[in-house]
Amino acid sequence: MDAKGQNLKIALQRKGRLADGSLQLLRAVGLDFDYHEGKLFSPCANFPLDLLFLRDDDIPEYVQDQVTDLGIVGLNVTQERGAEVAQLDCLGFGACILSIAVPRKGTLRSIYDLGGKRIATSHPKILARFLEEKGITAKVIEISGSVEITPSLDVADAICDLVSTGSTLRMNDLEPVEVVLRSEAVLIANPASLLDDRKKELVDRLRIRIQGNIRARRTKYIMMNAPESALQEIRGILPGMKSPTIVPLAEKGMIAIHSAVPEEFFWDVIEKLKRAGASDILVVPVEKMVI
Ligand code: ATP
Ligand code: MG
Repeated sequence: MDAKGQNLKIALQRKGRLADGSLQLLRAVGLDFDYHEGKLFSPCANFPLDLLFLRDDDIPEYVQDQVTDLGIVGLNVTQERGAEVAQLDCLGFGACILSIAVPRKGTLRSIYDLGGKRIATSHPKILARFLEEKGITAKVIEISGSVEITPSLDVADAICDLVSTGSTLRMNDLEPVEVVLRSEAVLIANPASLLDDRKKELVDRLRIRIQGNIRARRTKYIMMNAPESALQEIRGILPGMKSPTIVPLAEKGMIAIHSAVPEEFFWDVIEKLKRAGASDILVVPVEKMVI
């Protein structure tokens, strides 16, 4: 607890696919805390924040009921639970797709073949809303786990489940036919905590660090040599920060150009830079990026 009041509290998944990513993110933004498997609670040594480790399904309700001020959970879980929480930031890990999949060898080819059929899912609310929007009347069967085996057991005709690589679907002779929701880990907050000045200030401080980390992870720092005459063309190619850094080289007429590049443009940019005359291209990761 800090001098002025209670620590901010954040709920994290105790064990599972989001657990490592959540801990890594909090460590990467400079928070110092003790953690070992099975721990339920851990205060930070250098920030007025307590970590609580819970089942992911419970996190939206705990945040809604202000048991904790913040939570890290999959977008699929917050949407399915329908809790009244504010969604603050997408965190860039835990990516997966909630997909409708059908047996590979069968007559069902698209969602429009699913009228009157049975669809098994652990996300019944999201699926029901999706089917309603598309005007499809199907029977939603709620299953809490191993949804992918239901068609082979003749419990369902199709499924709606989370997919990341698709290998579980392939192993069960299923193929995805429709994206229902693209999900990733998100930072959620209790709306009343955001109206409390002291807590809001702490949340903002934490978010500046988190956003700096996300931006850095999505950015590469690129350095290259080029003839001075290629500068204009290269500047046009770089979707960099504000203005690239230009350094003259010992060899007359040659310069070094440095710039930050968003990762999504990366390969596209490298090819264009080479064509414009850049050479000795070095690419390094960015640790933090505050703009
Ligand atoms: P808990 O014991 O906390 O309830 P769980 O078994 O419900 O855990 P996990 O399987 O650990 O949950 O998945 C947690 C979250 O990870 C999912 O809700 C989803 O947002 C994300 N995720 C990322 N990739 C996948 C995937 N391939 N399958 C399932 N979830 C995934
Ligand atoms: Mg769960």
